[in-house]
Amino acid sequence: RLKSEPEQFLQFAVTPFGSGDRLVFVRDVTKEARLEQMRRDFVGNVSHELRTPLTVIKGYLDTILANSGQLEPRFLRPLQQMEQQAQRMETLLKDLLWLSRIETVRSKARAEQVDVASLLQELESELQSSHPQRRLELQLECNERINGDYRELHSAASNLVLNACKYSKDDSIVTVRWRRQGQELLLSVEDRGIGIDPVHLPRLTERFYRVDDSRSSRTGGTGLGLAIVKHVAAGHNAQLRIDSKPGVGSTFTLAFPAPA
Ligand code: ADP
Repeated sequence: RLKSEPEQFLQFAVTPFGSGDRLVFVRDVTKEARLEQMRRDFVGNVSHELRTPLTVIKGYLDTILANSGQLEPRFLRPLQQMEQQAQRMETLLKDLLWLSRIETVRSKARAEQVDVASLLQELESELQSSHPQRRLELQLECNERINGDYRELHSAASNLVLNACKYSKDDSIVTVRWRRQGQELLLSVEDRGIGIDPVHLPRLTERFYRVDDSRSSRTGGTGLGLAIVKHVAAGHNAQLRIDSKPGVGSTFTLAFPAPA
């Protein structure tokens, strides 16, 4: 982004040329950047506007169902289904709003020192109350902090852990590890679940991309979890690595640059 022309966006690429010279390519990407901004604003605004009517609908449904004893029995099931779908829509809007927020917030908002080990301990106790039957194995092998945003990192780790639970059997273990390896700090979530066919990996972090639509809807997924993880990673200069084998399991790793 040019300081003198704040509305203009340029992309630079530098490549070696001849002996010691460099070639610099400059591309004007203003049009693409504006379109992308319009798309983000649109999604953010629509999600925000849809929340109010949905809150009213859910409120009435909750009140009606709280007095279900007075209902004709044939209305009970459809009303329960309406309530479930309204709940689903609420989760979807929450994820959409969160995604549009992390796509737009600048990096200076991410300047806290985050203690990842205690973040993961907090996540473990949250999981124990929401999924008491699940076994989470926590391996905290370092106590390094990273520069970042606690809420964003919590949502990325939480999405990975919940996915690991969704796509594996209830009695299988999910391992969460935090360790230093060379110049990197690695946060990995490993499951022994259904795994992912390699053909799906390149598109897995796209919004609403799902390997198996019916399974994901059944498990209550919004299709936005990995898109959120990818954006949180990008905002923290981290890489998202996916290692998976169908029928064996998956490991999702966030690799952060270690502080010098
Ligand atoms: P969803 O809400 O559908 O889980 P995500 O964006 O979190 O959406 O994940 C996208 C897709 O990637 C999922 O629909 C699922 O097919 C696949 N996936 C994600 N995590 C795992 C995992 N741990 N094991 C197997 N498949 C996974």
